[in-house]
Amino acid sequence: MSSVSVPPPKCLQKTFVAPRRHMFGPGPSNVPPRILAAGAEPIIGHMHPEMLEIMSDIKSGIQYAFQTQNNMTIAVSGTGHTAMECAIFNAVEPGEGVLTAVNGIWGERAAEMAERIGAKVNSIVTTAGGVFTSEEIDQALAKHKPVLFFLTHGESSTGVVHPLDGIGDICHKHNCLFLVDCVASMGGAPLYMDKQGIDILYSGSQKVLNAPPGTAPISFSERACQKVFNRKTKPVSFFLDMTWLANYWGCDGKPARIYHHTAPVSAFYSLRESLAILAEQGLENSWQRHREVAEYFHEGLENMGLKLFVKNKNARLPTVTTIVAPPGYDWKEITSYIMKNHNLEISGGLGPSVGQVLRVGLMGGNSSKASVDMVLEALRDALRYCHKSKV
Ligand code: PMP
Repeated sequence: MSSVSVPPPKCLQKTFVAPRRHMFGPGPSNVPPRILAAGAEPIIGHMHPEMLEIMSDIKSGIQYAFQTQNNMTIAVSGTGHTAMECAIFNAVEPGEGVLTAVNGIWGERAAEMAERIGAKVNSIVTTAGGVFTSEEIDQALAKHKPVLFFLTHGESSTGVVHPLDGIGDICHKHNCLFLVDCVASMGGAPLYMDKQGIDILYSGSQKVLNAPPGTAPISFSERACQKVFNRKTKPVSFFLDMTWLANYWGCDGKPARIYHHTAPVSAFYSLRESLAILAEQGLENSWQRHREVAEYFHEGLENMGLKLFVKNKNARLPTVTTIVAPPGYDWKEITSYIMKNHNLEISGGLGPSVGQVLRVGLMGGNSSKASVDMVLEALRDALRYCHKSKV
């Protein structure tokens, strides 16, 4: 007689083999064999000397990708959302003001996170697909006097790349930290953390870097560190407390590293490899390739009679393209058809763009003219075969 009342599940007797798919949605993107292989290396202790060296390499790789000299540069164990919370939870104390720029879902999410820790949150809002002028930002900062201003560089829900030049200076004039989300843009669109006066910048592993989801680069300027390390209250999250993470990543100058959490060892191997590939290819080459491939894609879409959601060419995000959902079609039918018949993922809208757009992400190794041709062919096929419905 067995002492366990829950039997071993039958489903676990089957071996799982992941389907091979073209991951051309807004993320995760395809992980190339070299990065997958790095992640399959044997596990070592998360505080063994080799691991500390890997973390140091990752830090250098992020400094390169972000174009920053910031010492306080690490990868958070978690996804882009984890880095987002790390930024907000460490930089803001309850009762302080936060201003978020909302031109898609990410400004809304940042606002919700700040609200949850008791910040006084205000937002400036523009239409999905739009951008803010420096004057609008200046005026809102003067009015609300926040300690932190949040802006998304690559708005993956709307397909917009937001200009960053000059905004850091405006924030600093108002004694406010400038927080930027580059999850969907880093490596795919020009970005200079130090030159652009960005105080906190975070990204994700699963987009242009082509690493598995689950690690998130983040960096804090000297100005941000002054605020983060001189708080009156402890951040609400132990896991995301930068005092602990700074020590864990060897950024606090202390000789001994204290155990904080068990690093996702394999994920760090992969992240290191993905940053090595970006460094080998060169950031500027990567930016240029993403731009050229996006332009080739956009031209192909327009030649098919499809419309781009972002009208201003300069505001089109080179990594994630938003296409106006073709009138008369059910967008879900198009994405399902393409998945079923072309083994290829593209997605619908997110947040304010739901029902309005199709989104195609061509990031990192997926950013190539061959991928574009594949997507165009799949779309052409879908438009031919999906029913023009009564929508
Ligand atoms: N910000 C942006 C701009 C994103 O595109 C995403 C991912 N879609 C996130 C934040 C959140 O990242 P994650 O899904 O890895 O938590």
